[in-house]
Amino acid sequence: MAVLLLAEPDEFSRQALTLARTLGEVETVSIGADAGLPVERAHVAEGIEAYAPGAWASALEEVIDRVSPTAVVAAGTERGNEVLAHVAARRDLPFAANCTALLAQDSSGGASRNGGDSLTVIRVRWGGSLLEEARIHSSLPLLSAAPHAVAAAEGAGSAEIEIFTPALDEADLVVRVSEHVDEVSAGISLAEAKVVISGGRGVGSADGFGILEELAGLLDAAVGCSRVVTSAGWRPHTDQVGQTGTKVSPDLYIACGISGATQHIAGCKGAKKILAINSDAEAPILASADYAVIGDLTEIVPAITAELRKGRSP
Ligand SMILES: Cc1cc2nc3c(=O)[nH]c(=O)nc-3n(C[C@H](O)[C@H](O)[C@H](O)COP(=O)(O)OP(=O)(O)OC[C@H]3O[C@@H](n4cnc5c(N)ncnc54)[C@H](O)[C@@H]3O)c2cc1C
Repeated sequence: MAVLLLAEPDEFSRQALTLARTLGEVETVSIGADAGLPVERAHVAEGIEAYAPGAWASALEEVIDRVSPTAVVAAGTERGNEVLAHVAARRDLPFAANCTALLAQDSSGGASRNGGDSLTVIRVRWGGSLLEEARIHSSLPLLSAAPHAVAAAEGAGSAEIEIFTPALDEADLVVRVSEHVDEVSAGISLAEAKVVISGGRGVGSADGFGILEELAGLLDAAVGCSRVVTSAGWRPHTDQVGQTGTKVSPDLYIACGISGATQHIAGCKGAKKILAINSDAEAPILASADYAVIGDLTEIVPAITAELRKGRSP
């Protein structure tokens, strides 16, 4: 029996595929077009124009009924988690979100890849500050894969593609995407940037971000921020790093005037190195930082920019 993977054409679904494969052979379910993942069989639902969690859940349920999988996996993205939550609620099934490892158990407690009585999962909780080991007893566990926890599966193309048109209810389309508004962004995206410079309350105002933008321009960096900043309306929510924002994993994360609340660290702890610029030598961010400069960011950030300019001038 197969493991079903709700798949989209992105890295997160490839990571989810790696995780799903630890439970057995994987078949994908995609909406609109095949996600192009290297699996034996891909089920592709036609007739759903835009993202609608209820409709995606209905399509997934149709394949569940047809294939009788041993587990259903999705990427631990907002969509993946939302669709699985719908399926869990409709079918009264257990759902473990943001898993980093899966291990089926047989009745003697030994590990088995397939057909075990229960499934042990390791999953990320509390915005990344806790790893939980939990055991799920169900013939159909629903699981999502924590982003960046495992390597993405490589390769392309399903051996066999089965196209189907799910039977949808009017209620399935009540919540749906009705419009896409393009992000106004001139630079590199937060998720892809090798260097991210984030500002917090310590930056003081929307205009205060000018010095961060200037430094970012020199370092090909993206500019992020804390939630205090988005709540104050200084920057858009798309710039927010953290538990309820974007999770970044750059080579260098420069936190300017950010105290280092756990909800913020949840979004930047994937960075290879963290440099904190903070006027408070006791700020919690120092516990997560590899380097720190204690002082006023309005002096330190322009000083770094000036030094970089000096180093680059002929
Ligand atoms: C459910 C939930 C989800 C949340 N999600 C997020 C999230 O996704 N992202 C997020 O960021 N927060 C999130 N938060 C909010 C989080 O708890 C903190 O309130 C927030 O991160 C604090 O932002 P800050 O560090 O900018 O501000 P503060 O905590 O006020 O820190 C400001 C820092 O700036 C320093 N500073 C002040 N002036 C200067 C100066 N001139 N030079 C240098 N340093 C200076 C201060 O010493 C201080 O350390 C969430 C909270 C909850 C409850």
